[in-house]
Amino acid sequence: MAEPELVDVVVLGLGVGGEEVAGRLAEAGLHVVGIERNLVGGECPYWGCIPSKMMIRAANAIAEARRLDGLGGSAQVRTDWAPVAQRIRTEATDGWDDRVAVQRFTDKGGRFVRGSGRLDGPGRVRVGDQVFQARHGIVLGTGTSPSVPPVDGLTGTPYWTNRQAIEVEELPASLLVLGGGAIGLELAQVFARFGVRVTVVEASDRVLAVEEPEASEVAAAALRADGVEIHTGVKAARVEHGADGFTLRGSDGEGFTAERLLVVTGRRAHLDELGLDTVGVDGSRRYLPVDDRLHVTDGIWAVGDVTGEGAFTHIAMYQAAIVVADVLDHVRRAEGDADPSGTASVVGGAVGVASSLAATGSSGSAGSVPRADYRALPRVTFTDPEVGAVGLTERQARERGINVQVGFTPLSSSTRGWIHKTDPGGFIKLIADADQGVLIGATSVGPAGGEVLSGLVVAVHAAVPLAQLRHMIYAYPTFHRAISEALRNLS
Ligand SMILES: Cc1cc2nc3c(=O)[nH]c(=O)nc-3n(C[C@H](O)[C@H](O)[C@H](O)COP(=O)(O)OP(=O)(O)OC[C@H]3O[C@@H](n4cnc5c(N)ncnc54)[C@H](O)[C@@H]3O)c2cc1C
Repeated sequence: MAEPELVDVVVLGLGVGGEEVAGRLAEAGLHVVGIERNLVGGECPYWGCIPSKMMIRAANAIAEARRLDGLGGSAQVRTDWAPVAQRIRTEATDGWDDRVAVQRFTDKGGRFVRGSGRLDGPGRVRVGDQVFQARHGIVLGTGTSPSVPPVDGLTGTPYWTNRQAIEVEELPASLLVLGGGAIGLELAQVFARFGVRVTVVEASDRVLAVEEPEASEVAAAALRADGVEIHTGVKAARVEHGADGFTLRGSDGEGFTAERLLVVTGRRAHLDELGLDTVGVDGSRRYLPVDDRLHVTDGIWAVGDVTGEGAFTHIAMYQAAIVVADVLDHVRRAEGDADPSGTASVVGGAVGVASSLAATGSSGSAGSVPRADYRALPRVTFTDPEVGAVGLTERQARERGINVQVGFTPLSSSTRGWIHKTDPGGFIKLIADADQGVLIGATSVGPAGGEVLSGLVVAVHAAVPLAQLRHMIYAYPTFHRAISEALRNLS
């Protein structure tokens, strides 16, 4: 067995969260080894947020051109996927090559190791023949991969996940999308706007099932207006694949056919591969349980999707800042203990960063390290119209026994909504805790629903009293001015 090499910190998985943690700890002067088996940067830049939003930007431009009729003339639109695929290949992903990202990390002083790593006992990580012993800690940022349901006949067929959908160079004539969540709807709308015949099949009784029902209705109506067929309440029972493409059969016998099948039914962490049993952690769970400083167990932290706190890049980045502060705090204590004079080597840089991070930690800092607080977790589905939401839905709030008030206003009744012709819809929905007099959740659906959300995130995050929100000045005629009307309607 190889002799373990002593380092300060090992970061396993250099996706959004892991790369941020590893880079900042290296910049602070620690000896950091970052291990990545695929591409440094992870899902977001190569197969997630960035290329999908490039696709959406193009699809929305097409939709806007088609809206010219009745507003300012007429436009004849001829769509072409080639520039979209080209932009994803050259601008977003460098042809799915991470040389620039690797260099970004090594320029910060980190040491990069390409390979699949796993825990190998307390403080140890193994990658092939190499074993690293971490003096100060291990950070797990191993993310998630597509969760593919056990549908009869599916395994072994050339179905797509988000990866093939993002890499596609030539569009199919027709596409079945299994899964009507955020990713499914975003991609369904894009492909439909480029002329693909798209059918969405969803097991729940509505699409975007985790959001407010009114949001599901608007999103479904918008996609239907783009020609997407939507079937809800259909449990996929069997998949057949042949020369003509795919047939998906529901448990009631109904059948849907298309040239391609895209499976977007959620994500799963692969804890079973991480050697968690070697450090006494249960690897059979769906996600890695963490406390509010992202500790998994002594000397191990986790960051990003693998924690199950929300599969968003902004969650991974938020958690990364806490992990960095906590690791540096831990280093400072360890080095302080070892060197009572307080002049220990690595901490010159590390302590400085730890204290400045601690100073910026906003949400309930305990000791010198900020603690994670997900009350005001924002999420945006980038369909057109966009669905932005923060905090609790009405149903979640009622299930918690909160004395709920709801305020609702359709965007079409606001001046800007009326000018814009927001058909097929948009609205602001506010969820207030009547006893506390604050907002605990909000949904903003509209042409700029994700942007309008930001004020609502501040309101929920900072628990701004309703009285203050009512007495704010909202610029006229903006989409966000509809918030003042929804506040008036709270009852
Ligand atoms: C189509 C799509 C669109 C999305 N759009 C958005 C969006 O608009 N906004 C948003 O906030 N989020 C979006 N997301 C989610 C976002 O991509 C993820 O939340 C984010 O990438 C999570 O970062 P992470 O660091 O936790 O994990 P990942 O980005 O998944 O990175 C984990 C890394 O760990 C590596 N790894 C795993 N196991 C090992 C191992 N044993 N050894 C070595 N390396 C390992 C993997 O190769 C991977 O590179 C989207 C996702 C998809 C799929």
